[in-house]
Amino acid sequence: MPSETTIKSSSTPPNRLALRGDLLDFSAQPAWGVLDSPAVRFQPDHWLLIADGRIQGSQAAEPDESWHKVDHSGRLIMPGFVDTHVHCPQLDVIASYGTELLDWLNTYTFPAECRYADPAVAQAGAERFLDALLAHGTTAAVVFSTVHKVSAEALFAAAAERGMRLITGKVLMDRHAPAALLDDVASAERDCIDLIDRWHGQGPRGRLAYAVTPRFAPTSSAAQLAMAGALCRADASLYMQTHVAENRAEVRWVSDLFPQARSYLDVYDQLGLLHPRAVLAHGIWLDDEDRQALLRRGAQLAFCPSSNLFLGSGLFDWAAAAGTGVPVSVASDVGGGTSLSMQRNLLDAYKVQALAGQRLSAWAALHAATRGAAEGLGLTHELGHFGTNTLADVCVWDWACGPVAQARDAVAQNLHERVFAWMCLSDERNLVSSYVAGKISYHRKT
Ligand SMILES: [Zn+2]
Repeated sequence: MPSETTIKSSSTPPNRLALRGDLLDFSAQPAWGVLDSPAVRFQPDHWLLIADGRIQGSQAAEPDESWHKVDHSGRLIMPGFVDTHVHCPQLDVIASYGTELLDWLNTYTFPAECRYADPAVAQAGAERFLDALLAHGTTAAVVFSTVHKVSAEALFAAAAERGMRLITGKVLMDRHAPAALLDDVASAERDCIDLIDRWHGQGPRGRLAYAVTPRFAPTSSAAQLAMAGALCRADASLYMQTHVAENRAEVRWVSDLFPQARSYLDVYDQLGLLHPRAVLAHGIWLDDEDRQALLRRGAQLAFCPSSNLFLGSGLFDWAAAAGTGVPVSVASDVGGGTSLSMQRNLLDAYKVQALAGQRLSAWAALHAATRGAAEGLGLTHELGHFGTNTLADVCVWDWACGPVAQARDAVAQNLHERVFAWMCLSDERNLVSSYVAGKISYHRKT
């Protein structure tokens, strides 16, 4: 393994940074199943140039002494991952035994979320959570807080400190949960409007955004969902995040609660919650008509493979979504998911597709976790690839850690084989450094 050499010059302006390594990103969406894709940009042993936190380009030649140079030769450098569905307060219940979704919420999740009413708990939890994301190579995320206004504020404040792209909002829940986790339509609307005024489009470089966040149809009344839809209609720059069709018992419950709706997804559609900035987690138990509705509205699905396997929720049909043209990203859904590592989730995504007779290439998987996610969120001008003037959210990875992965890496015959093995065998232990807008935000100690 190469030694890490930092070449410092006392006269170097700190805002010019050059990272040397094997650069990998995507110029477009790789076609499904194509291993020799023109959308893959691989630049072995190149320098990635970053000035004022933005990517300026890349080159094979060593840059001049006006750059602060960090030599990661022999390592992989990629855009930071984007986790499009994850719950901050659920770090405390990750890896909880023995339940399906609805029992899991009542037994583990709701008690954990109650604690976030305390501002000190919310602040410490937000900081621990965002630092954990950065230590897993995730530099941007779409995040659930709790019903408490203070929990969303804590996340926004902690993300602003770190300069991260963060999309979050106060969770809306006015029924079917413990009293300590319930709001009501009027107070929820006031809290949302106040949070939007204070945080949406704010933070360093305007990287914070508000997501209207009904937890899911069973825990919001029709009146509350309608209020959420009205907020979205009033400002098209707002995001919306929720869950849909994760588990069969949940789908049956929604059908009892909303008998007038054609389907679970239709509840959201009828109340104005589906639009190009809507991120719906799971979407396992959808039909073709639902997928057409998603396409029509421009909404996207966040596939949460480790969560779906862990809770026994079902197998997401990525090929059907892709065939319809619905954007799909990959998400950890911690604490239903079992790891914040996007590689582990991508490996689970591969296994879920394999069970359906589909093969997920490393290109399709890694694109979905970087540029594809950025496209779905309308953020390709900012992140997800190494294009000029995007913010330098960048991660440096070891190609292989430990004798098994190192031996596998050494015998790879072509680029896809090597990257696929990396995706399957790596995790947060491979992460060397994370940069957010060109600023180092995580660095491995050893
Ligand atoms: Zn979730």
